Amino acid sequence: MVLSRDADYAHYLYTCNRCRSCTTNRGRASVIVCPSYAHLGYFSYSGGGKGYVAQGILEGKVKASPEVAEVAMHCLLCHACQTMCPPGFELITVVRQLREWLVSRGIYGSLAHRQLLDNLRNCGNMWGLAPLKRISAKKLGLSTRPRNTEAVLFLGCHCGFKKSSLESELKIIAAARAKVMVLEDEPCCGNPALELGDQGLFQEMAEKTIKRLNALGVEKVVTICPHCTSALVNDYLEIGELEPEVVHFSEWFLELIDEGRLKLAKQAPKLIATFQDSCHLTRYLERGDVAREVLQQIGGLELIEMNRSGDAAFCCGAGSWGEELVPELWRFTVRERLREAAGTGASALIVTCPYCERSFQKARPKKMEVTSLARLVASQLKD
Ligand code: SF4
Ligand code: SF4
Repeated sequence: MVLSRDADYAHYLYTCNRCRSCTTNRGRASVIVCPSYAHLGYFSYSGGGKGYVAQGILEGKVKASPEVAEVAMHCLLCHACQTMCPPGFELITVVRQLREWLVSRGIYGSLAHRQLLDNLRNCGNMWGLAPLKRISAKKLGLSTRPRNTEAVLFLGCHCGFKKSSLESELKIIAAARAKVMVLEDEPCCGNPALELGDQGLFQEMAEKTIKRLNALGVEKVVTICPHCTSALVNDYLEIGELEPEVVHFSEWFLELIDEGRLKLAKQAPKLIATFQDSCHLTRYLERGDVAREVLQQIGGLELIEMNRSGDAAFCCGAGSWGEELVPELWRFTVRERLREAAGTGASALIVTCPYCERSFQKARPKKMEVTSLARLVASQLKD
C-alpha cells in the first residue's frame, strides 16, 4: 500500500505539529541528530519535513518529480527522527514509501539508485556480482548441513564475497568450538530493496530467505550485518513467520562468554576507545547495550562515549547506501562523526556493522584506528 490515506501511518502525517523534535536529541537544539537536516539546514529534509512532502502527495498538491526524489533520497534511514519524535511517528515507513511511490513512477534519485536496484534484481546483490562469486562454505571451512548444527551464520552481501572480512568471526567460532553452518548460495535478506523503494522485490527476497531458513530446522540464525538482523527480525514480520531466533554476532559473543565457551584475557594492553552505535542494532532493534556489555568484558579497555551516543548517536554516513546514493551527505556525515570520535581522545573507534567500518575506513581517519568488535574480541582470546 504505497502512500495511501488508508495506511496505518497516514493519520500521523496530519497530526505532526512541526515541533522539529525529530531533528535534535530530545529538544536540545544544539545537538542535531538528523544528518540530512545537519547537512542542509532545511526542515523539509528532516524526517518531519519528509512527512509533509508525503502529505502533499496524498492531497494531490505535490507531483512526482526529481525535486521530490532529491528530498526522499537525502536520507540515511538512520531512524534518529523516528526515535526522537515525541509521539513516535513512523517516519521510516514514510521515507521508504515515498521512495517506493517515486520508483513505481520511474523516478530515481540518481543513476546510482537505479543501478543498485538493477543489480539487486539481476544478480541478487547490490554490488552486481555474479552469485557464484560468493565465498563457498568449503573456503570458510564450515558445513552446509543442518545436522548437529547450533546456528546458521548469515553472512550478508557485504561480507559474503570476501573471506578476509570474516577472519575474526571464524577465529571466534573455532575458539568456541561452535557448530555453525552457512547456506551454500545465501540469498540477500532484501533490506536494500525495501530501503531503495522496491517493496515487491523485498517481498520476493524475504519469502525466499524465510523458506530457506525455516527448512533447515536450526534454532538460531547469527547475522554478521545489523541490516540483515533488522530485516530478519523486524521487516519479515509482515511477510511470514521466521522460525529460528535471530541474533547479531555481538549478541552471540555475550552468550558464548556467559556460557564459558569464549574466554577473554583479563590482562591486556590499555586501549582507550569510543563506540559507534549501529543505527539498526541500537535504534531499529533497541539492542545497542549488548555490544557495550561485551566491551566491559575486555581487559584494558577504557570506553569513552561520544556526546551523541546510544539512541541519539549520529550515523556513520553509510546508512541506506549513502556513499553511493548521496555522496555529499555521506562525506559530511562521516567527517562530522569522525571529528566527534576524535574529540573523545580515544585512539580506537569500535564498530559492530561492516557498513560503518567501510564508511569510516574510506574517510581515512587520522590518528584513530577503526576496528570491529569481532576483531577486538578475537585479539583478546585466551590461548
Ligand atoms: S518530531 Fe514528530 S511531531 Fe515533531 S515535527 Fe518531527 S515528525 Fe512532526
Ligand atoms: S532517517 Fe535519519 S537522515 Fe533520514 S530524516 Fe530521519 S534522522 Fe534524518
